[in-house]
Amino acid sequence: MKTIVLKFGGTSVGSIERIKKVADIISSYKKKKNKVVVISSAMSGVTNDLIRKSELLSNYFDKAEYDTLLSTGEQVACALLAGRLVHIGYNARSWLSWQLPIITEGPHSGARINRVVVKDLSKYLKSGGIPVITGFQGINEKMRITTIGRSGSDATAIMLAKFIKADECIIYTDVDGVYTTDPRQYNQAKKIKKIFYDEMLEMASLGSKVMQPTSVQDAKLNKIDIKVKSSFVNKSGTLITGLKKDFSDQIITGISSTKNDAKITIVGVKDKPGVAASVFKPLSDNLINVDMIVQNISLNGKETDLTFTIKSSDIIKTEKLIRQNKKISFKKISFDKNVSKVSIIGVGMITTPGISYRMFQALASKKINILVISTSEIKISVLISSKHTKKAISVLHKEFKLD
Ligand code: ADP
Ligand code: ASP
Ligand code: MG
Repeated sequence: MKTIVLKFGGTSVGSIERIKKVADIISSYKKKKNKVVVISSAMSGVTNDLIRKSELLSNYFDKAEYDTLLSTGEQVACALLAGRLVHIGYNARSWLSWQLPIITEGPHSGARINRVVVKDLSKYLKSGGIPVITGFQGINEKMRITTIGRSGSDATAIMLAKFIKADECIIYTDVDGVYTTDPRQYNQAKKIKKIFYDEMLEMASLGSKVMQPTSVQDAKLNKIDIKVKSSFVNKSGTLITGLKKDFSDQIITGISSTKNDAKITIVGVKDKPGVAASVFKPLSDNLINVDMIVQNISLNGKETDLTFTIKSSDIIKTEKLIRQNKKISFKKISFDKNVSKVSIIGVGMITTPGISYRMFQALASKKINILVISTSEIKISVLISSKHTKKAISVLHKEFKLD
């Protein structure tokens, strides 16, 4: 008898009809005599709606109350799903994070799961029950409700799989697997049968929303294979797994892109030791995430230009912090809100030279100007004007034979 963790995303439980369909999927696993642990997200749109409500009441909504508020979406979805399972004849119940509990550490809205107490859960599974557990939420040492970051139910599923020692973990979503690039943006995208943790981690961190980055990192650390499947159509999905010897000959596995990035350039910054630290410290203190960074040395060696990217939503705060910063002096500051980061990802890059040249050449052939470049062992990212994102994905998809 296998223990299988099944996670359903927001669209999968997005309506009453969808919840009925999901209950049938769960039932199909039960009929094969598996022990089934279910994790559910909130119905699609619900979490965003709760965020909007909090914003109508305060620009600085209390962090602890914010998490308590946001976590309610999952409670509704789990109760509806468990109720439906009971209706079709199963022994099922909802389980809120604090009832297990799922213990988290770290700040509100960005907490991390570090332990799941599975004693009662194991007993319930043994007795044939189907637990339907809220994704995305936990409790901290002060017994306050926490949430673990947007799309966090993926990570809840992985951590449940770890602590319950599951044989399988399946992420059910609205696409039938991980594709070479977002299939909703580019219709020539192809489904990937098998992808390595590191590649998935880069793709997720670089904007491929299909899996949440923390969950992939947790899966990698705990060697938990993940299957990504569709709850809409019954098709084979994608396996996310560890790097095995059968290294694929595909150089590039996927392409990711971001939305809502902004580029900031501080022109004519007095160049002296510690200047970069002085610029970025206040940003880091204010939890502003700085991504790509380039520093140019000017010809006279006295001044430098500093370019970096942040989320567009952080622009106003960032400008204020830079202008208030007494530790730096500069001539000018400029902003560009309409930029996107496009990245190619693949472990094959490690052993194949010339990939960056091919990427830059392909972009040049479409007259796409590169603003900033950054690389790691298995990815190359370029910052370009957002209006070229689709064209860039398409030319790179063809260049690396992903079509
Ligand atoms: P869920 O609510 O089930 O967690 P998400 O919306 O978080 O679903 O993730 C699924 C979405 O991810 C898809 O609808 C798709 O548009 C998007 N996506 C982005 N990049 C990719 C990719 N490379 N492969 C598959 N889907 C992707
Ligand atoms: N409901 C949460 C969100 O919308 C968590 C999740 O969907 O996984 O971010
Ligand atoms: Mg998701």
